[in-house]
Amino acid sequence: MNAGLSILQRTGFCNSPGAQGPVIQGTEKHPVRRSVPFWGITRPESMTALKNESVAPLPAGVAASGRPDGELVRRVHAEPPHAYRTPFARDAARVLHARAFRRLAGKTQVFTRLPAEGLSDHFRSRLTHTLEVTQISRTLAAALGLNVELAEALALVHDIGHPPFGHAGEKALDRALRGNGLSFDHNLHALRIVTWFEERYPAFRGLNLTLAVREGIVKHSRDYSVAEHPELKEYFLDELPPLEAQLIDLADEIAYLTADLDDGLDSGVIALDQVREAVPLFRGFHDAALAGYPHAAPKVVVYEALRRVLNVLVTDLIEEVRALVTALGATTLDEIRHAPERLATLSPQIEAARMGMKDFLYASLYNSPGQEHVHAQAEKVIVELFDFLMAEPGLMPEDHQAQIPTEGLARTVADYIAGMTDSYIVQLWERCGGE
Ligand code: MG
Repeated sequence: MNAGLSILQRTGFCNSPGAQGPVIQGTEKHPVRRSVPFWGITRPESMTALKNESVAPLPAGVAASGRPDGELVRRVHAEPPHAYRTPFARDAARVLHARAFRRLAGKTQVFTRLPAEGLSDHFRSRLTHTLEVTQISRTLAAALGLNVELAEALALVHDIGHPPFGHAGEKALDRALRGNGLSFDHNLHALRIVTWFEERYPAFRGLNLTLAVREGIVKHSRDYSVAEHPELKEYFLDELPPLEAQLIDLADEIAYLTADLDDGLDSGVIALDQVREAVPLFRGFHDAALAGYPHAAPKVVVYEALRRVLNVLVTDLIEEVRALVTALGATTLDEIRHAPERLATLSPQIEAARMGMKDFLYASLYNSPGQEHVHAQAEKVIVELFDFLMAEPGLMPEDHQAQIPTEGLARTVADYIAGMTDSYIVQLWERCGGE
């Protein structure tokens, strides 16, 4: 199968004869035997050879085990095994059926849904973003022979702790809590939701998820120290998480970088020429799609280019993880946990492309001058409602008020606000006198 072709050739990009890319210096981790010139991106031949001969999955032992008698499936409250569903499949279903999960439909991904914005309904919400991350995560885990059900559960739950108004909302809620000696972190809030806040079972609070899913919620995107977070010590803080959890962070990035280029272009906030200029990976595929489909509608050519960008990012990640695990010689999860560093990374060349896309989106979309008033309005709504409810806690629903004695007033108000959708918080803020 296509032996000798680089990832970009095999994934549909036609290279121009004679085009010379820069020569990349090899490192011990990423040896470069001979560079394959490719419109600015070169692939180490060693990696190409490796991936062509090894579409095989990783050794079975490196996958997180969902065995019913294993440590990773331990739940805080013991439950009998299900007759025909695995523990991680049950966790994925528990997340899918949670109230906090359904509310992701009404939460901002990038384009804040304040009524004044008047944007279309087909932009990503945090729910559709989550479903895209889940699709990518399942693909990654399946290709690598990892635990697909664990990857799915982790992807479904990865943004469940996000407050309304995206990152602007998270920052505002954190600032409000810091004024009360607390802080807000969406990963830790997700853990709080699944271990305590959701009430669906008569026998216990929370969703009673397995240890592997709770560990992945905490550690998929960053490390926490035991010194700062003694309450998290059961989650193996001095070890790396399983690959299924490590992959979620990049699956998330791949999903949102490509989707945000799509939504950004569709909204008119960014222009096609800007993307072509700033993102060579996109430009290459866009040119190839234009050449291959000269009569296609312009937006369909963009979709085709974005589809190929996504495919290259995912394929590169699969190949890089496979190469790193192979180089490490790991055959067990324990060896993954004690590797010198996380193994879910992109190759240096594609990583550079990813960083370029990210820098561009931050400058041109997330923090663009036109977004300032949206962020400012989001912060105003959250901070004013937080202050209002701190002064008038009796306006919260009774089940929230009941938590004040054990959780404290500020945390209870933050829990209440974090659970709101964008439209609900604006309605409540207006009812409380906001304008
Ligand atoms: Mg996400």
